[in-house]
Amino acid sequence: MEECIFCKIIKGEFGTKFSHEDDTCVIFQDIHPKAATHVLVVPKKHITSIAEMDDADEKTVGHLIMAAKKIAETLKLKGYNLHINVGKEGGQEVPHLHVHLMSKFS
Ligand code: AMP
Ligand code: ZN
Repeated sequence: MEECIFCKIIKGEFGTKFSHEDDTCVIFQDIHPKAATHVLVVPKKHITSIAEMDDADEKTVGHLIMAAKKIAETLKLKGYNLHINVGKEGGQEVPHLHVHLMSKFS
């Protein structure tokens, strides 16, 4: 089966610049930004979506929110939105869990 695009990005196959990387997640610019700031917070573990997460993933998903908060502080954003699409019918195009961090500030 073809590996998912975000797993390839995490492996560095496209040379994507990470705004942040730690043991659990990476953060990179959305290729089609919908706000002045639009980055994606993506777990290194392939979890297809929130609907597929299990109890063992609770810490990982909490880590994504904390990473988003920290990068928002680093970027000195006055306010922002965190958004997670869940499933194809929920508007999720890439089947690898990710949090959109968007802000009208940059
Ligand atoms: P979603 O609809 O929640 O699955 O969001 C997927 C997001 O990934 C969209 O906002 C896309 O613009 C973004 N995206 C897709 N491919 C890439 C890529 N190669 N690099 C960065 N962002 C991407
Ligand atoms: Zn993946």
